[in-house]
Amino acid sequence: MLRHYQSYPIPRDEKLLDRLIMRLQFGAGICPICGSITIFYKFSENLRETGTCIVCRSTNRHRQVAQVLLNAIAEMTGTSFSSIKAFAQNHPTSKSLIIYNTETTNPLHHQLKNYPGYLASEYLEGKYVSGEVVNGVLHQDLMAPSFANNSIDLMLSSDVFEHIPDPYLAFSEVHRILKPRGRHIFTVPFYQERYRDEIRTILETDGTIKYLLPPIYHGDPLRPEGILVYVIFSLEMLLKLSDMGYQLKMYKLHDFLRGILGANAIVFESIK
Ligand SMILES: [Zn+2]
Repeated sequence: MLRHYQSYPIPRDEKLLDRLIMRLQFGAGICPICGSITIFYKFSENLRETGTCIVCRSTNRHRQVAQVLLNAIAEMTGTSFSSIKAFAQNHPTSKSLIIYNTETTNPLHHQLKNYPGYLASEYLEGKYVSGEVVNGVLHQDLMAPSFANNSIDLMLSSDVFEHIPDPYLAFSEVHRILKPRGRHIFTVPFYQERYRDEIRTILETDGTIKYLLPPIYHGDPLRPEGILVYVIFSLEMLLKLSDMGYQLKMYKLHDFLRGILGANAIVFESIK
């Protein structure tokens, strides 16, 4: 069972092991996504986005989401799995879950894509309507997803909500589509010492973009130019999600043998 964090601000305990791994640039262990005994290589100063598994190419952040997902699956089905691959191949059919991933390219997606209750989407630029399939890819705008009320057991998003113009509208839509006791497991850029979200960009009603702070773009598999950041979250997010009726859990992970390290290994789980 994973322990979740209850104190705030979160203590930033720098671990000797992390500094050693940054110097060596690699570690070894068992990948929680592909289940392989593997090498996690090219760890850099940006620990969260590096440490690629030589087998499935997952990074530290992907494995953090996987670790919390495995914990949720164990709690929801009563069966523990050592990796996402093991779950997707040997899941108990009597307790199948509807799992919705907001990405179609990451290593988690590749392990889950043949799981019977699996859905995956992207946000596609253009005048598409949520639920439309474009060249085989399901389009969903998370501010207006097409899924029915109470239809999803587990939803995954990894560094997605900071790119949504109105992220709290999207969080409330997630609450609508989750089944009762359904869970949204997610990562977002998060200020561990601040109390208010940092609103960087505003999308005006006429469609113009207003920059309150210099624009930041994150790398994106579908957009070579990168994707704009609207907000960087903080404690305010936890309060707003609690007000929506979610039970919030904030995990600070550290599991060297699973390729999970660094002071930013933080994953959120909101339970409806
Ligand atoms: Zn792997």
